[in-house]
Amino acid sequence: MTSCSADRARGHPLQAYLDDFITLSSLVGWPYNSHSVEWIHVGSSPLLVHSFTRSERLEASPHWACQMTHADQSVAPAASQEAEALMEDAAGVADPVGVVEPYEFTEIAIPIIAMHVLALFAFIPAFITGTNVLLLAIALVVFSNGITLGYHRLLTHKSLRVPKWLEYGYVGLALCCLQESPAKWVSTHRRHHSHSDEPDDPHSPTASFGWSHVGWLLWKRKGQHEFRTDDRYCADIIADPFYALMEKHPDLPAGIYILHAGAIWFVASALFLMENSFGSAIWQGVGVVLWCVVLRTVMIWHFSWSVNSLTHCFGYQNYKTSDQSRNNWLVAIVSNGEGWHNNHHHDPASASVQHKWWEFDPTYLQIRVLKRLGLATHVIEPRQVRKTVVEREDSSSLNKQAG
Ligand SMILES: [Zn+2]
Ligand SMILES: [Zn+2]
Repeated sequence: MTSCSADRARGHPLQAYLDDFITLSSLVGWPYNSHSVEWIHVGSSPLLVHSFTRSERLEASPHWACQMTHADQSVAPAASQEAEALMEDAAGVADPVGVVEPYEFTEIAIPIIAMHVLALFAFIPAFITGTNVLLLAIALVVFSNGITLGYHRLLTHKSLRVPKWLEYGYVGLALCCLQESPAKWVSTHRRHHSHSDEPDDPHSPTASFGWSHVGWLLWKRKGQHEFRTDDRYCADIIADPFYALMEKHPDLPAGIYILHAGAIWFVASALFLMENSFGSAIWQGVGVVLWCVVLRTVMIWHFSWSVNSLTHCFGYQNYKTSDQSRNNWLVAIVSNGEGWHNNHHHDPASASVQHKWWEFDPTYLQIRVLKRLGLATHVIEPRQVRKTVVEREDSSSLNKQAG
């Protein structure tokens, strides 16, 4: 039988956090609490098991049944028996090497937790200043473009083309958001589009809300990190020597991030030094880093993660896509328009995700400005516009032939 380390997982404090999300999902009634979702009650706790067929779910995460069995044997013998049966089934679809390591921390789990703890230091009263709040607001607007325009629409979906120096500029901003290398980000997101809300989706809330938001970054499923470079999805990215260099030296993205933090601290301290003592200037520089680097990074993380979690749970749909994607105005506000996610899943190639007049897309507005300046070319318009252009071209060529 497959080895199962669920005993270890049960005692894991972060496991309790994930379980809370799952239980909460049953109380608030997720939008994906639909025909396809299967519920299993263990004791008094309803556990959202999956929205796939049982065999698909077990294939995606065989340890799931192990976790249920070990965690709830004492309170629900009947349910435990069913879970035991599931576990037996799981053994048949286990990892090829026969070792399943559920809830094994990823190598980025500790840095993610550490950054959250560090961000709390921004709220030390001495650091809460008007200057820091203003700088945070500016930094959020500037650096988030690296993810939304750079990593997402430019690299992943090729929705526009820009000169190489400008592309590297956007990628530089993205690296300052500490969201890993371009190849890792692009392959993970392309995999999401290829398998949206299916077992191979790296971060679907059909597993659980907590998993889709941050769990997939903290734990390895089937012993494999979800946030990984997958050659099948990023051949065009690693063809670029700069992006390939980051795959060859995986610490390079983190190094660039630390360098930019150091540069911000140095410039801020130098400016404060004009009107303050040396010690005071250094201290105020630390405050700027906590607000404009650490807190900003954590906030942009959650804004990006919300696109994976909230917009696959809450909101409305303009289109009946094959996934659970939704348009969510709150996420759209904090993520430069990315919250119109159902529109995006309907037409991923489009540079714009604005399909109704009030679905404002600030990222597309920026793309239009770049186009006007001659810096963006080959901008892919929404499907409806593309269709109209093709129809117009077809009819004009027919007219020419008739003439
Ligand atoms: Zn999605
Ligand atoms: Zn996308």
